[in-house]
Amino acid sequence: MYNKHLSWILSLGIAAFGISCTKHTEEAASDDIEKIIAGMTLEEKVGQMTNLTLATIANEVDSTVVIDTARLNNVIVKRHVGSIQNVLTHAYTLDEWHAIIEPIQKLTLEKTRHKIPFLYCIDAVHGTNYVYGAILFPHNIGLAATRNRALVKEAGAITAIQTRAAGIRYNFAPVLDVGRNQQWSRFGETFGEDAYLVTEMGKASIQGFEGDDVSKPQHVAACMKHFIGYSVPQNGKDRAPAYIPEIVLREYFLPSFRAAVKHGTHTLMVNSAEINGTPVHASKYLLTDVLRNELGFKGVVITDWLDILKLKERHQVAATHKDAVFLAVNAGIDMCIVPFDFSFTDDLIALVKEGRIPEERINESVRRIIQLKKDLGLFEHPYLEPEAVAGFSRPAYSQTALQLARESVTLLKNEKSVLPLNDKQRVLVTGPFANTLSELHGAWSYSWQGNVEHLYPDSLNTVAEVFRKDAPANSIFNLQAWSKSTPLDKAALLQTARTTDVIVVCAGEAAYAETPGNIPDLAFDSSQVEVIKELAKTGKPIVLVLLEGRPRIIREVEPYCSAIVMAYWPGSQGAQAIYDVLYGKYNPSGKLPFTYPRYSGTLITYDHKLLDEAVEIVEPYQYYYEFKPQYPFGYGLSYTTFEYSPIRISSDTLRGADSLTVTVTISNTGKVDGQEVVELYTRDLVASITPSVKRLRAFDKINLKAGESKTIDFILTKDDLAFTNEELKSVTEPGAFEILIAANKILFYYK
Ligand code: BGC
Repeated sequence: MYNKHLSWILSLGIAAFGISCTKHTEEAASDDIEKIIAGMTLEEKVGQMTNLTLATIANEVDSTVVIDTARLNNVIVKRHVGSIQNVLTHAYTLDEWHAIIEPIQKLTLEKTRHKIPFLYCIDAVHGTNYVYGAILFPHNIGLAATRNRALVKEAGAITAIQTRAAGIRYNFAPVLDVGRNQQWSRFGETFGEDAYLVTEMGKASIQGFEGDDVSKPQHVAACMKHFIGYSVPQNGKDRAPAYIPEIVLREYFLPSFRAAVKHGTHTLMVNSAEINGTPVHASKYLLTDVLRNELGFKGVVITDWLDILKLKERHQVAATHKDAVFLAVNAGIDMCIVPFDFSFTDDLIALVKEGRIPEERINESVRRIIQLKKDLGLFEHPYLEPEAVAGFSRPAYSQTALQLARESVTLLKNEKSVLPLNDKQRVLVTGPFANTLSELHGAWSYSWQGNVEHLYPDSLNTVAEVFRKDAPANSIFNLQAWSKSTPLDKAALLQTARTTDVIVVCAGEAAYAETPGNIPDLAFDSSQVEVIKELAKTGKPIVLVLLEGRPRIIREVEPYCSAIVMAYWPGSQGAQAIYDVLYGKYNPSGKLPFTYPRYSGTLITYDHKLLDEAVEIVEPYQYYYEFKPQYPFGYGLSYTTFEYSPIRISSDTLRGADSLTVTVTISNTGKVDGQEVVELYTRDLVASITPSVKRLRAFDKINLKAGESKTIDFILTKDDLAFTNEELKSVTEPGAFEILIAANKILFYYK
């Protein structure tokens, strides 16, 4: 089994032994926190800043976690470590989690001087993915396709309940990186390519995790990650250098973090990579000047995995590990995911003793960490909370997951209305991922990579299993003929295909997470392309269901498919959702949260500049490029038709701090009920910095019965029209703007 912990140790050539977390205000820190800090030794303080992985205190014996008492004592009592994180190799049951966490807390409270409760931290990134019995939602990319803020918040709230029920109060989520490089292996963990969409979905998710009061047994501390610029590696690979001019950083990558800080999010994790040659873990400008002083963040800043060590080993900006610790602490980190040893701890203690880092700097971080623990209610209720455990399992959670998965599914092509399928058709269910759970779930699902099929609960269904259950009379299977794990039996597959009316192919990419998901380009698996072409020769219509965390190039295979359904990584209820969409039991409403590229070498976002497009053909020269993605941002078909009224505005001039009401009426002119995502874009006609061709400024999602019409209002203010200018200030310049909704537009002026 691929183990993240081991892979990192090997890649860095270090020895592992012995062992990582979140509101906050240092100004508002209470007297009792000050009293605790005043009585702490330097070693105890640095212990609070040290975050270790479970492997430092436990072993896996027959797939079960066994705590090593001697190592636990060393970590908690002798070295004063205040937080631990993650799993050894895979998920555990609720009982197993309780058996891990309760003894650590007991030891902490009984054997440490100040009885500062310890904090457990986890990646619950699309549901509580490391706890058996929890529900897994679509990954963020799918959630963004739903454009449904309320449901995304609900998913966050359920994740919080199920996480806290395990005894865990700190969640390393959500990802607020803006997915502007489709090749990046963590693209599927993002809410897509648009800064506003990421900001809105990020806020909804954080509201779900943290609620109004994180001390409540239904909530957990959230972690905005990864600050900042992680998602646009120049070479497309995970943890690779990014080159981002500050004007771009502020325009596209800062807004999601700014909004989450304003919202009061408790913690933040730092980008593992580097921007313009400065590793973010060593950037005092980004971590202190921007994050703390400009954005006003008061919470805990945590490093990412092994990243202080990497300042020396990978970025080579520090000659020694001690220099690396100095750089990171000086830059502004509070807690370090070390996570295997006491190298950070020892070097930080030495740096303070040598006078290179003042102890008051350490106190600042410790204050924030203790405040976080206090906010989480750990001082009052350090042990398992019966109320939290009681909320763990509810049938309603599956319903939310199912509805999110359905609303995420995005119908990209539906030639001759091949979809929805009907009960009279014989349907062949095939493809490498027709009968796997890994590809329905993707990264971070019961294991880090999500690709260990036997770890998935038996209660979950693959696409083939749902067809078998819900359409037994007309589904046809020959799962062995084309599967992920057996050699292709082309003859058998084609023979079966000839006996059917429709062929449903589940294809895309095998599950992966983080660096192991690096790819040289976005090409679609050529062997899958070949089989689809062969199947097309039968003359039967093909419905391609895409299971993928990023848009693999389908230009070549698209003409052979009558319908294409983008399912992303839809999670535990994904198979059912796909089935429901294919059979019209749910009318698809998903909208792409990114531009689906046509070519691997043309990765351009929807909000590009006019110069990114060829605008005219000048004889005798031909422009050889025009912006023609496979499918545009916001694209997604329905089984019904929607008509939009012309756009109405409250005035043709928006003045100063006033607001403008934009009104539009949408009618369902088809025969079936449906949901429609209404998106409002603006276009700045003249600006001092070249404007984007359009920018998403508002969206809403409405239900419309067949024949029904609804009118909705959007309110725009000057802030919705702002951009970062040459002086790096957010400004709205007077002038003409257009509002674009569906195929309509209207002009107005800002004065
Ligand atoms: C990832 C983070 C994650 C952390 C802890 C890192 O490798 O980049 O997103 O929260 O590990 O598991």
